[in-house]
Amino acid sequence: MAYIKILFVYLIVCRAFAAEVSITIDDPSLDSGAPFTADQRNSRILEALRKHQAQALLFVCGKRVDSAKGRALLRTWGQAGHWIGNHSYSHENYGSAGQGFEEFSLDVQKGETVIKDLPGFRRIFRFPYLKEGNTASKRDRMRSFLEKSGYSQGYVTIDASDWYVSDRLRERLKKNPKADLAPYRNFYLRHIWERSQFYNGLSEKVLGREVKHTLLLHHNTLNALFLDDLLRMFKEKGWKIISAKDASSDPVFKAAPKIVPAGESVLWAIAKESGKFDPILRYPAEDGVYEKVEMDRLGL
Ligand SMILES: [Zn+2]
Repeated sequence: MAYIKILFVYLIVCRAFAAEVSITIDDPSLDSGAPFTADQRNSRILEALRKHQAQALLFVCGKRVDSAKGRALLRTWGQAGHWIGNHSYSHENYGSAGQGFEEFSLDVQKGETVIKDLPGFRRIFRFPYLKEGNTASKRDRMRSFLEKSGYSQGYVTIDASDWYVSDRLRERLKKNPKADLAPYRNFYLRHIWERSQFYNGLSEKVLGREVKHTLLLHHNTLNALFLDDLLRMFKEKGWKIISAKDASSDPVFKAAPKIVPAGESVLWAIAKESGKFDPILRYPAEDGVYEKVEMDRLGL
């Protein structure tokens, strides 16, 4: 009896301390890339989310889906209960000197016109490349513009380079449509798990707690193939997949770290602002170049 009681307490404790992650998917597009058409890629990603009951947040870059066909693709997300957020129209880099506030804020408004009538639309904005401004003035003007326009920040807590792994996988498939994809799957799962551990550790170090995470992924071939495996991996490792709605309640998404250049993962930015963690904060926080060496070594 005592044993059962201890087991019960243990299970409760484990449950209470399971790390939590929600899924965000950026840049849906109508591009087709073997082996999938855009519709097939979209259906497979949606099916993986459905299977794991993961209500996700889709960040739309307007120019990639600004057509009747594009809106039809986006509508499948809203109809499935997912949220749809704004990722600008043109996907410009607000961290570059050539991209001013006036031009960029107009582009954000233009992005909204593509998605505002869709089911699931929410005023949540994510900066392209997670670049929030290369000067304090640009950063603060956009923050105030977003607030006045009723937007909250679509911050990422776990940043990674799924886009880079997907690009390399597609290059391989172009050369050899029958290539063995298992090594890409294994590399991808390891990469996301390693980055998740890093950012969750950063959350504990900087905030003294595990936040409700938002993982950055993309609407690409890699996720059409392996999102199901990725979600299963998180569960097997004891993490809980939570909804985008649940994640959005975490106070970390109201943070406004005063760093320049502004951006990256919000956890990275809060750590940078504290000035206490510089030795573990590389810049940029994530990029394909960091994964290139290992992928080259593995012949991927
Ligand atoms: Zn993007």
